[in-house]
Amino acid sequence: MPRESDRIAHPWGARTPYGPGRPWPVRVDSFLQPGMSAEHIERWVPTASLLHSNGDAMDIAVADGRIVGVRGRAGDRVNRGRLGPKDLFGWQANHATDRLTTPLVRDGGELVACDWDIAMARIVTAAKSLLGERGPGAIGFYTSGQLFLEEYYTLAVIARAGIGTNHLDGNTRLCTATAAEALKETFGCDGQPASYADVDHADVIALFGHNMAETQPVLWMRALDRLEGPEPPRLVCVDPRPTPAARCATVHLAPRAGTNVALLNALLHEIIRTDRIDRDYIDARTVGFDELAAQVATCTPAWAAGICDVPARKIEHAAEVLGEAERLLSTVLQGVYQSHQATAAAVQVNNLQLIRGMLGRPGCGVLQMNGQPTAENTRECGADGDLPGFRNWQNDRHVTDLAEIWNVEPTRIPHYAPPTPAMQIFRYAEQGSIRMLWISGTNPAVSLPDLARIRSILGQERLFTVVQDLFLTETAQLADVVMPAATWGEKTGTFTNADRTVHLSDKAVDPPGEARPDLDIFLDFARRMDFRDRDERPLIAWHDPESAFEAWKRCSEGRPCDYTGLTYDRLRGDSGIQWPCTAQAPDGTERLYTGGITWAAPDVCETYGRDLVTGAAVSETEYRALNPDGRAVLKAAEYLPPHEDTDDEYPLQLNTGRTLYHFHTRTKTGRVPQLNAAAPDVWVELSPSEASRHGLAEGDLVEVTSPRGSLRGRLRITGIRDGMVFVPFHYGYWDTPAGDQPGADGGGRAANETTVTDWDPASKQPLFKTAAARLTLIAPGDGAIAPAPTTGASAPVHPRTIPPTIGGPAAVAVHTTDVLEGGAR
Ligand code: SF4
Repeated sequence: MPRESDRIAHPWGARTPYGPGRPWPVRVDSFLQPGMSAEHIERWVPTASLLHSNGDAMDIAVADGRIVGVRGRAGDRVNRGRLGPKDLFGWQANHATDRLTTPLVRDGGELVACDWDIAMARIVTAAKSLLGERGPGAIGFYTSGQLFLEEYYTLAVIARAGIGTNHLDGNTRLCTATAAEALKETFGCDGQPASYADVDHADVIALFGHNMAETQPVLWMRALDRLEGPEPPRLVCVDPRPTPAARCATVHLAPRAGTNVALLNALLHEIIRTDRIDRDYIDARTVGFDELAAQVATCTPAWAAGICDVPARKIEHAAEVLGEAERLLSTVLQGVYQSHQATAAAVQVNNLQLIRGMLGRPGCGVLQMNGQPTAENTRECGADGDLPGFRNWQNDRHVTDLAEIWNVEPTRIPHYAPPTPAMQIFRYAEQGSIRMLWISGTNPAVSLPDLARIRSILGQERLFTVVQDLFLTETAQLADVVMPAATWGEKTGTFTNADRTVHLSDKAVDPPGEARPDLDIFLDFARRMDFRDRDERPLIAWHDPESAFEAWKRCSEGRPCDYTGLTYDRLRGDSGIQWPCTAQAPDGTERLYTGGITWAAPDVCETYGRDLVTGAAVSETEYRALNPDGRAVLKAAEYLPPHEDTDDEYPLQLNTGRTLYHFHTRTKTGRVPQLNAAAPDVWVELSPSEASRHGLAEGDLVEVTSPRGSLRGRLRITGIRDGMVFVPFHYGYWDTPAGDQPGADGGGRAANETTVTDWDPASKQPLFKTAAARLTLIAPGDGAIAPAPTTGASAPVHPRTIPPTIGGPAAVAVHTTDVLEGGAR
């Protein structure tokens, strides 16, 4: 029987409780445009969510050549039919009236409409002349976690073997570079060891800096259903904010920002001290235990309590829960990845799993999460600081192998240094060695730290900036050429979520105006540049998504992310399929490392690792000496204090993060009525005692100032830890009069006006969660209320004084649980 509910007010929908080891029951969610019903739908077209990393499978409803709604896919292993608020409502952004419909070029200081020939000719002319005058290092590419696998792979071949530049990275650098690095440091290779199905089996789930309820709402539904079923798992939650997970946790630890390594070392200390380790697993599968034990020997809970400002008894309690678990699943996200000592901390979570022998069995594993839907693809395809197919840039045999696949000389693939990370690409643009920067599907003028600096880099005369996107974003407004891109639902391609599940997203409708798929744009550029292989044949021989996918399959063959058992036809079945998918594993692979550590051997590993403090690459000789047999590496890390700490002038720790209803810089979600209304503007969070110390009240207009800049927002008083101020990072300027920067009053809106130019030495991920700031009252609230949702971590401490966030009739979606296994249609 279909039921209705307001999915802004009730983001996680109705419960379908289940017990350990049972399959997660089906619940199919759908939302159709008002006035539409199933009989109006002409076609249902398979896809998955493009607004977070969970990979929720869904079908797009098409009527009269338009997208008119979505429904979850009951048979899919990831969501079993469920959809989150962004999944349900986000498709409406495709219809926004301000979509880019023609290319634009800058003439006389203004962006003016033109045709594709003119736009492409400008790009090709600039690229050719820079190649001739300054060489490949003058050209850089900065891409997204929003495109498809086929597009990243094509871009990687263009950049690496066509142009020959080392400067290619994705905005996944801001998001999940640390996930990749942590997996590489421990297992010698990227790729998620665990599966979302481990939620079905775990008896303890530990969330480290992972606000799962707001970043992966459908995964949180799975956890909620376990929590309401028989034998629920216990939760350990590490987060400075009162997230929904923290409210359900057996133990909630809210440490000072930048102290994750101290906390994790204390947890490891306690688990080793109480001998809750799996000796046999450690001896058979790992190296480095003695060094790890020595490193944490003095890291007692009392020691960590002094650093983290968390009671020692709570740390002991958490260690007890983690140590007693029989099936332990740990998840990690931005609270670790965007913070001080990011990789060092994420690696300690891997260490925790390994010393407890919690890997490769149902319910046991680690999910080093992604934030973006196609982050995994950027990493696999080499568009995010890696060589395609998780190949090792330091291993000449891997480079030769890649050169064979592309039929080019190995010297044509730059591997004199690791691929350039995003923050360094922008630094090179600032210094003037990069003169052309091609930005696809991302908005660094809002998403990178220290925005005044980023705007000045992008606005330079000498930098030729190319942007391809759906809208005239803050970044596009600073570009020299803007290309209108097609998006999800308007083009075909595959994407892979955080637990290695590959989905196909088929084209459902035509893109608006002259907008083109990103793949077509890249292929057109390659053709006009006339890139050739060593036999003078076109370097890029594919011509559409499926032929690009087949080319990628060849590149992935024999590597961990082996796609050779997948085809577009197979992906049009009921469910997505997890890689590796091969002749030996035709149905995909649920968990990695079930029979041992597979990809850490020196000849096959993706990396030899890095020094976690300096970021210096470990040499092949050092790695062979450390890990000749290719076991998991237990890499110890010493706690070091954050670089920017609080002082009298900037007494608060500044934390930034995501809200449930938005994604990225609101490029899409800000144009979706239900999502925008739920969280329409930036706000500032403070604890009750911090608010009273500052003489501030709910709704006051305050200014957050750091040594870089400032922003203004209304105050929400929440259960966040004392000494911290939180600002959501989604808000920019495209919907303000100024358009691309703070207005004349200087009151910025973007969190990144204040964040610091600093990054983790190993993963090169910028730090968005460890800066210092102060607060100033600009105007009293006089009854105003902060535009913060009440449903997530920004819930007020005094709920009765604040109206709850609701969506009303416009946000009513339907769900049904009356469906046959695998077949809600
Ligand atoms: S919103 Fe957060 S999780 Fe999502 S892509 Fe951005 S940084 Fe990653």
